[in-house]
Amino acid sequence: MLYGILLVVLFAFAAIVYFSLLLIPAPYGRHLRKGWGYTVKAKHGWLIMEFPAFSVIIILFFLGNKRTSIVAITFLLMWSVHYFQRTFIFPFLMKGGYKKFPVILIVFALGFNIINGYVNGKYLFYLAPVYPISWLYDPRFIIGTSLFISGMAINLHSDHILRRLRNSSKDGYSIPRRGLFKYISCPNYFGEIIEWTGWAVATWSIPGLAFAVFTFANLAPRAFTNHKWYRENFPDYPGKRKALIPFIK
Ligand code: NDP
Repeated sequence: MLYGILLVVLFAFAAIVYFSLLLIPAPYGRHLRKGWGYTVKAKHGWLIMEFPAFSVIIILFFLGNKRTSIVAITFLLMWSVHYFQRTFIFPFLMKGGYKKFPVILIVFALGFNIINGYVNGKYLFYLAPVYPISWLYDPRFIIGTSLFISGMAINLHSDHILRRLRNSSKDGYSIPRRGLFKYISCPNYFGEIIEWTGWAVATWSIPGLAFAVFTFANLAPRAFTNHKWYRENFPDYPGKRKALIPFIK
């Protein structure tokens, strides 16, 4: 019962987040502004808000009834690799890690990460029928995992390009031109969306779908806002570059 409610909450939350963020950009990074209450250092914010996403699913795995399932272990590894990087590596590599990050956003993200980790872990390690070992050869697993790995590679590479820009611009902003930035303003978001779409396909699950939908709802509006911001702040911004999806939008 609670599980079903939380799943509905995630889908509803995605719709609310999408339309809200089209109107009000989340106030962090280049869109940080006054009036959003207490702040902490960005790197601490990232560490705190991502930690439940990393830990909740591990706890559910060890409490669950799929501990000997190779497929369940594979899903745990996929999730954990992503969230280990996002929680313990990304914040300390950030060049703007000392900048301010509103506590209110951390609270929202904590809520989301706890619910999302719970519904995904509860499904995979308790509720789902045991995935047979043959799932590893199923086209859904192969396509989903390929998307997951490619999305993660695009995301990490794009964040790396952004970090290198800071070598020349200190804590300011400049136009990224390498990698998929040639085609879109936010390839890190594009990669993240592909990654969690791959997760949904590989797990072939409603909670996986909810996470993919939420990721799109959260990042697509920010990509549009960032794209507009680049155009407004850089007169020489490449005219053909799209916001999020190469050649399309
Ligand atoms: P951004 O692209 O806004 O920023 C990433 C880093 O690069 C920040 O340190 C930022 O600095 C810096 N940066 C960005 N643009 C430039 C530029 N033009 N020149 C120089 N430095 C730049 O990403 P987010 O901070 O929004 O997200 C970080 C990661 O988290 C991404 O990989 C994203 O996919 C992921 N994420 C996932 C979400 C999800 O729902 N799954 C939600 C949000 C993020 P500064 O902080 O100073 O702006």
